[in-house]
Order: sequence, then structure tokens, then C-alpha cells
Amino acid sequence: MTAIPFDNSYARLPERFFALRTPTPVAAPSLIRLNHDLARSLGLDPDWLAGAEGVAALAGNRVPDGAAPLAAAYAGHQFGQFVPQLGDGRAILLGEVVDRAGRRCDIQLKGSGPTPFSRRGDGRAALGPVLREYLVSEAMAALGIPTTRALAAVATGEPVVRETLLPGAVLARVAASHIRVGTFQYFAVRGDVEGLRALADHVLARHYPEAADASRPYRALLEGVVARQADLVARWLLVGFVHGVMNTDNMSIAGETIDYGPCAFLDAYDPRTVYSSIDQHGRYAYGEQPRIALWNLTRLAETLLPLLAADETEAVAEAEAVLSGYAPRFEAAYHGGLARKLGLTEVREGDAALASDLLKRMAENQADFTLTFRALCDAAERPDDDTSVRDLFVDPTAYDGWGSRWRDRLVLEGRDAAATAAAMRRVNPAFIPRNHRVEAMIEAAVERNDFAPFEELLAVLSCPYDAQPSYARYAEAPEGGGVGYRTFCGT
Ligand code: AMP
Ligand code: MG
Repeated sequence: MTAIPFDNSYARLPERFFALRTPTPVAAPSLIRLNHDLARSLGLDPDWLAGAEGVAALAGNRVPDGAAPLAAAYAGHQFGQFVPQLGDGRAILLGEVVDRAGRRCDIQLKGSGPTPFSRRGDGRAALGPVLREYLVSEAMAALGIPTTRALAAVATGEPVVRETLLPGAVLARVAASHIRVGTFQYFAVRGDVEGLRALADHVLARHYPEAADASRPYRALLEGVVARQADLVARWLLVGFVHGVMNTDNMSIAGETIDYGPCAFLDAYDPRTVYSSIDQHGRYAYGEQPRIALWNLTRLAETLLPLLAADETEAVAEAEAVLSGYAPRFEAAYHGGLARKLGLTEVREGDAALASDLLKRMAENQADFTLTFRALCDAAERPDDDTSVRDLFVDPTAYDGWGSRWRDRLVLEGRDAAATAAAMRRVNPAFIPRNHRVEAMIEAAVERNDFAPFEELLAVLSCPYDAQPSYARYAEAPEGGGVGYRTFCGT
């Protein structure tokens, strides 16, 4: 039996979908971390993966039996500018496996050397961004948010040249697939309708089997992507996640969070928050994400026009009808989620306004997003104690007016306080990847070769909804509310 039971459906698509290319070996691979649980869920043997042959495979030094390594072609809008050819410039798809639950998954190496799509890049990844993606993607998974997963991080023993010399690493990541909005754009811009149809059929079979059986499968495909992205962005907002670089090539067709680069989590709530140093105009600010997702989906819809109807006017009408479903879907997911964060299970008129009013007061008072909602869980449990939550507001009286209305609304639910608090704690995490903690973790690893903070942070974030009193310090906001925090592109 081969160690990794590959079944590579993408490699069976027409040749122009990718470039066959093997990873470039690295000098001295050593395993930083293997995700044992994920390996097992994929049906892989963690002991083999952690052994010499497995690490060689995860580093790209040895192509495992059954792999069909390739770099996928795609295009994309980067900060609104269309680039007709991007593609995997520093990533190689080893192949696909079907996991224990029957789901097909990509296993991809990121930082595995140059490909025909590398342009001027070196095809490599630095240790810091690899650890950031490992940690944040696993934290998102533990929060229950659709995401690519981290299977392993391997140090290469080679430096990469950035502004300074940095240690290099390879991330092995797992995704439902790495097909992007930009993959559709790649064929559309070339007028390659046959390629587009082959891609759409592949995606239908792989990610939207229910749509494949619909009377109009391509329309149903677009509906499916719209629905998953609307839900996904709502989930991001509900935990304070800022993706940072929502280019169309970084938006997954399967609806997973993908391509963790300059991503970060809100400390103080402010919808205008931007962390990425390259996002100078705030295109991808926290509060812009719902709008940008629709913009990206509109680009996807444009690529699908030739498949939606033979007549262009008719095709445009179809696309517009589907896209008009985005806003209500997003609003329902977002406001439903906010209501649950507030302990409300029945939908009542005025709930959305109540939630929006809280957010407004939080923004005006630099209240920490995660701490405020978590403190509300305590407040729900102890009906006469608002101290911990009101103290999070610069002007605590800004909370008071809202708090009494919220309590009146909670009474209408008729649930007992303990049950309400318990339900709220299941949707309001105590622990998120705090930016200052992520930075300190990266610094320890890069500057001192100390991976203990990485391991500890990863462990805490694997149970984000549990109180974990001995790790209370990881729940704390940074000094000064994290104002001015900047992230840099993951390259
Ligand atoms: P990203 O912004 O990380 O999603 O990357 C955008 C594009 O640049 C993708 O086509 C990447 O494959 C490519 N790219 C990013 N970093 C590198 C690198 N170090 N070497 C080669 N290509 C890269
Ligand atoms: Mg990308």
C-alpha cells in the first residue's frame, strides 16, 4: 500500500489547466509540527509522516508514490486590477486524497520552489508567514469556520531573501480544493469556453453535487458559491477576522477561507480597521469585506455568462438574479449570528437594531470586540453585574443605556440565565489569535528558534470557546488596544 492514497482528479483535467512541476528539494528539512489529528482524519499514518520518508515528502524532497505534482493556472483581480496570469508561483499541489468522511481534499505544499508561474518570485516561503498561516488556519477551524487546514510545517534549513535573510519553511496545507474565482477568470479572459465548462463541471461534481442535478446546473453552481461566500464572510465578521487580501485569486470556490497572508483579528471594534501595509486605501477593511465578497462574486458571475444562457441579455439577467440573493443571505447569516452572540434565539423585530446599536457604541468607545461579547456572557449569567462589560468602554455609561434594553429583551426569551450564558459561550470565543501574541510567537521562532510559544498558542486556540482559566493571559487585549498594528504580505 502506498503511504498516501492519492486520487488526483485535477491532474486529469486538460493540460492547459496547470503545469506539471515537482517541488524543488531543500537543504536540510526538519519537521516543525505535524497535525496528527488532521493526518488521521485524512486516513494518513502520522508516524509515517513524521518519519524520514514522510518529512522528505512534506518538504518536497521526495515525491510520494501516487502524487501528480502540479502548479495550477489562475488569473485574478489584485486590489481591483486584473492580472490575466497568476497561478501557483510558490505552491505545488501534490495531489488529492479522500478523507475518512468521504470528502476529497487537496494536499498542497506552499513554499516548495519555483514554477512556471513564479514570475520574479523565488517560490519560497519564510518561516514567519508559514507559522502564521498554520496557527490562524487551525484557529479558524477550531472556531468552526470553513478554512483550509495545516497538515505540517517543515523548516528547510535554507535562508530566503526578503528585506533581510529569513529562515525558510514549507507549509503542507489541505483544502477542499484550491480552485479560486481567479481560476474561472483564467479561462474566461482567454475566451476558452470549453475550458470554462470543464472547470465548472469539475467544480459541480466535486463541491456542489446537488447543483449538478439541478435543472440549470451552472446557475445552481453560482447560487451555491454565492451562498457559501455570504455565510463565510458573515462568520468572519462575527469573530472579528480581517482577511486582508481578498483578491479574486484568494477567494475559494468551495467557500473556505484561503490564502492567509496579512490577516489579523480585531482588538478594539472599528469597522474601518485595516491591518495590511499594502492595503493603503482600506479596500479590504474589516467592514468592507461583505461588499468586496459581492464584488468578487460579480467577477465570477461574469465568467459564467457563456454557460448561463446562449443569449447574452438572458445570461446577464440570470447572473443578476443570482447575485441579488447575496445581500439577503449575508444579512440573515450576519444578523442571525449577532443575535446568537447576544443570547437571543427567537427572532424579534428590533433585534438587528439592538445589535447595531451595541456595535456603534463599541466603535465609539474602543471596546475590545472579543472581550465585550465574552463579558456579555458573564453579564447574562449574573443579571445585576455589568461591571466587567461596561469597563471595556472608554465611557462606561455608553454601555449602560444599551445594557438595560438588552436585559429587557433577554427577559422575553424566557430562558434561565445559566442556559443563556452557556449558549452564548459557545458562540463568543474567549480566545482568538491575538495579533500581539502571534507576533511574539513568530519572533520567538524566527529570532531564537524557540517553538514553545507556537505550540502553546496552538493548544490554547484549539479550544477557543472554553474558559481555560490557566491561560487567561492569552485572552487579554494588547496594551493600548492594538492601535497601529500592521501586517506585511506573506511573501
Ligand atoms: P498572494 O498574494 O500570496 O496570494 O500571491 C499572489 C501571487 O503571487 C500568486 O500567484 C502567488 O503564487 C505569487 N507569489 C507570491 N509569493 C511568491 C514567491 N515568493 N515566489 C513566487 N510566486 C509568488
Ligand atoms: Mg494567493
